[in-house]
Amino acid sequence: MLFQCSNPDFHVRSVQDDEIFAVRRQALCTSEVFRDMFTCCGESEQTLDLYESADNLSALLNLLHRPPPPPTQIKRDEYHLIPKVWNDPKTVIPLPLLPRLFALADKYALPESVVGVLGEHLLAHAPEEPLMVYILALSQDLHHVASRTTQYLQPMANYDLDEVKAIPVEAYHRVVQLQDTRVKAMRKYLLSEDIFPHGYGSCATHSRETTHLWNSKRMNLAVKVETLTDVAGEMEIAAYQEPIQSCAVCRKACVAAVEMLRYKCRKIPKTVDKLNL
Ligand SMILES: [Zn+2]
Repeated sequence: MLFQCSNPDFHVRSVQDDEIFAVRRQALCTSEVFRDMFTCCGESEQTLDLYESADNLSALLNLLHRPPPPPTQIKRDEYHLIPKVWNDPKTVIPLPLLPRLFALADKYALPESVVGVLGEHLLAHAPEEPLMVYILALSQDLHHVASRTTQYLQPMANYDLDEVKAIPVEAYHRVVQLQDTRVKAMRKYLLSEDIFPHGYGSCATHSRETTHLWNSKRMNLAVKVETLTDVAGEMEIAAYQEPIQSCAVCRKACVAAVEMLRYKCRKIPKTVDKLNL
């Protein structure tokens, strides 16, 4: 990470790498730690020695001189895809850099606003790297980020012990409860969603065949439901199978049942903060 200051009036030196950076004194004062240092040491010194690697120091100086803006967000269409909001990847701080930035922000007591923005960058990685983001968010007490991330986690049993042992047991248990609630609710909705509810919309020609297809599909799916299963999306496949595919009446009933299922599943809690236990 390179650092450059256009109007420096002060210097800091990485003792470890003996590298000197020209900086703006006022920018350093964003950090409570530097503010205190300047208060007790006065204005006489022109170079401040710090026991940081040059790499760490330039990362810190960048945070102080040019606090990163939040990622640029693009709203998605109305199809309720997850995630609904998409972050422009060019504007997101890469995940491997974030632990170090959080550590520096903590060590040098940077303002809450900087930590909050780092949290937004962290959350942007949640759909791709949910477990890593979840653990890092918990370790930084970013409860909002941790909670929002729980919607992307795989079933906890799928992870190895080594991957999850950094999660405090209370938080782990909460995720297990969330996932259990989701699976039970999805299974319940799936098994109670008939294709011709009370005979409504029933097709005179294919009533038996279509009911059989729908029922065997949902039975098969019910035993396989996991926390991330798109139950409505899976059942929608029935609309492309015979006799439903070629019959307007059956197709209409199938689409209606899938939509009802989608509507109900959307109301199931996705994140631990929405869990009422
Ligand atoms: Zn039909």
